[in-house]
Amino acid sequence: MQYHLNGFRAGDPQITEISEPPRSEALPETVDVLIVGCGPTGLTLAAQLAAFPDIKTRIIEQKSGRLLLGQADGVACRTMEMFEAFGFVERLMKEAYWVNEVSFWKPSETQRDHIVRNGRVQDVEDGLSEFPHVILNQARVHDFYLDVMRNGPAHIEPLYSRRLLDLKIALEGDHPVTVRIERVDEAHKGEVETVSARFVVGTDGARSKVREALGYELKGDSANQAWGVMDVLCVTDFPDIRLKATIHSADQGSVLIIPREGGYLVRFYIELDKLAANERIANRNVTVERLVAVARNILHPYTLEVKEIAWWSVYEIGQRLCDSYDDTRNDVARLPRVFIAGDACHTHSPKAGQGMNVSMQDSFNLGWKLMSVLRGRSSPELLRSYSIERRAVAQDLIDFDREFAKMFSAAPRDPSNPQSDGVDPVEFQNYFVRQGRFTAGVETRYPPSLLTGEPQHQQLAKGFPIGMRFHSAPVIRLADAKRVHLGHVVKADGRFRLFIFADPCRGVPSARVRALCQFLTDSPQSPVKRYTPPNADVDSIIDVRVVFQEGHREFNPEDMPPLLLPRKGRYGLKDYEKVFCAELNSATNIFDMRGVDRERGCVTVVRADQYVAHILPLDAYAEMTSFFERFMLPQT
Ligand code: FAD
Repeated sequence: MQYHLNGFRAGDPQITEISEPPRSEALPETVDVLIVGCGPTGLTLAAQLAAFPDIKTRIIEQKSGRLLLGQADGVACRTMEMFEAFGFVERLMKEAYWVNEVSFWKPSETQRDHIVRNGRVQDVEDGLSEFPHVILNQARVHDFYLDVMRNGPAHIEPLYSRRLLDLKIALEGDHPVTVRIERVDEAHKGEVETVSARFVVGTDGARSKVREALGYELKGDSANQAWGVMDVLCVTDFPDIRLKATIHSADQGSVLIIPREGGYLVRFYIELDKLAANERIANRNVTVERLVAVARNILHPYTLEVKEIAWWSVYEIGQRLCDSYDDTRNDVARLPRVFIAGDACHTHSPKAGQGMNVSMQDSFNLGWKLMSVLRGRSSPELLRSYSIERRAVAQDLIDFDREFAKMFSAAPRDPSNPQSDGVDPVEFQNYFVRQGRFTAGVETRYPPSLLTGEPQHQQLAKGFPIGMRFHSAPVIRLADAKRVHLGHVVKADGRFRLFIFADPCRGVPSARVRALCQFLTDSPQSPVKRYTPPNADVDSIIDVRVVFQEGHREFNPEDMPPLLLPRKGRYGLKDYEKVFCAELNSATNIFDMRGVDRERGCVTVVRADQYVAHILPLDAYAEMTSFFERFMLPQT
């Protein structure tokens, strides 16, 4: 991490000095962004906007304080990559349970009321991500975000005990969304506050009031599935209690075991009955004793002695999706002002552990776009892409989840009765393995659009598919010979990155790399020149980095063009962290790992949410200019 740019400061570099008094409890009359709901979706957005003190962001929550227990727990590899951008992935990795292998259990063929292990597989295929798939309580994920918010330049604290009542959208005006908020704490009970916002984002969960105010519904399967979930400390002789395990019993149902952080805690997901249309699980009076009894029956002949129940819940879930994620109803004549994200616009079963992950990616997609528009870097048209991009992802997830849920819920086929219905356990295991990339969150691919280039130059870097997340690989930083991951320079700071993969250079930047840097530095057509405000650091909007294919000892940092050794901050200090070299070992060489054309090199354009926006030849200046022109506004 880089710090001391604008002068030496002692203490924790992750904490931005407080330049304004701590926020008062009162809501201001106007805000730029009002976020409704402190679940993982809302907190991802607030954490991202906390990097921008000039954007007035507030986040409200109806509960009286932070979440302490329960709810989702699976953190996919792709989400870990995003957490790296927020700076807390190492803390999370230390605390979390790592899902290394998964085991599959089925009824014994000789004794159907006993379960036996059917198989055991690696959870995440090698090389899919530099991060593991982990399990950690959603509440801890919230805590990490709350730290980022509190310590960021905008110092955002949630405003608790405030419930959104309704909102209205005016057709014009600077702050066209008027929101009414009720205070629900004892001291202020019944008081109603009114706030006007430029943008409102409803991250208020499956029963979203923001969605209701827009007149939208979650559409999809009306047959709701009820789930029981419990986090327990237990004693058992079931051998895979510290592995993620799916267990299908012959006629007692199925259970998903998720070992939890800390080495002792275990989560059981128990599928309960299907609910009638509009029926609520709360009315069925399911008790935790019943959950324990069902789990025990499924595990037979293994024993289960529950010593403590840390948390339990029953909840219903359907596979449902909203038609639009913003208030325009896909009307191209209007610009979006209100958005919904996370469970507010899509719900699905917890079996594949996707709810929290996909939800956080929604707001990671929206955050930088809101920032760009509010800071006048991009035209508001950019905001339309949020609903288009993220709704398609949720649709894919729901299609997947429907299939996965069907496989999970079906009784296992009885091999002694070939006519019996049900799923072959081997088929279920194979399906699980085949879908590994999807559940890791790395299969999202945005189609060509305003923000995503056409793939005509894809062959220059086949391993960086346009529209997919930038798949990081190791490199060596030239100036200090440190082995780092290139993708980790993409922080949650709203900047675009241009990664220049150099053609052969032999100790000094090649003519093409020099010419490209010259274009980016001097040409009036350069996106760096056009979109960087006059007195800002040269990398404040578009951050240019280079990767050479030759060994790092062959280059001298002082031979770099000024764009790659920029002078920054109030002292004009040199930034030595723009230049990298590939590792020489082919197995860990970024050019080989990602299929980068060594003869021609390329430029990989990466969005602020870590997705590859475009691949261009080193000298495709006009194409680069016209790509950024599509959504950026020149700064004068
Ligand atoms: P949420 O996490 O639901 O957050 C929404 C927030 O908005 C809440 O804090 C809520 O209090 C607040 N809010 C709602 N309405 C208002 C309002 N009008 N004004 C102000 N604030 C408001 N997923 C799993 O994968 N595994 C599980 O075991 C699991 N268990 C769950 C148990 C429960 C009880 C719930 C509610 C959800 C569970 N989920 C589970 C789903 C998972 O937690 C969500 O997919 C994930 O949290 C999505 O995050 P979100 O931020 O979109 O919504």
